[in-house]
Amino acid sequence: MIRKVPNSNLVINNHIYTRQELADTLKCSRQRVSAYIRDGLECLDELFQHIWGKDLKRYAEQVRMRTPKAKADEFYCKRCQMPVKVLNNIIKIQEYTEQVNKSGHYKLLLKGKCQNCDSICVKFSWSNHLPELKEKFQVVENLN
Ligand SMILES: [Zn+2]
Repeated sequence: MIRKVPNSNLVINNHIYTRQELADTLKCSRQRVSAYIRDGLECLDELFQHIWGKDLKRYAEQVRMRTPKAKADEFYCKRCQMPVKVLNNIIKIQEYTEQVNKSGHYKLLLKGKCQNCDSICVKFSWSNHLPELKEKFQVVENLN
């Protein structure tokens, strides 16, 4: 099943695309478009050659809904392919003080171990969330 959402904002609603045109527009391969079609992307014709832009957008929304969003105390585990809690609630925080957003907060990279499969999960946050992160998690210097 497809999990990566096609970049549907590159597509025009009221435009009919061939597979090749759609692949060019989405900057992906034709095989990828074929995989979308097998996965539920509607086509205009029985030979699966023409696709409405708006059908692609609808399909992209379906794919987007498949991936449950991780809650504040959860990380998305790539191996388990779902939001998970981290092992013993322990995380490591790496600070990127040179990467500042519009509100003046700098970027944080959070790392923890998936409590199901032990693989390292990461997510980004911002420095204004530091107090609540320190409340929710046990912050350590190094993950073992
Ligand atoms: Zn996992």
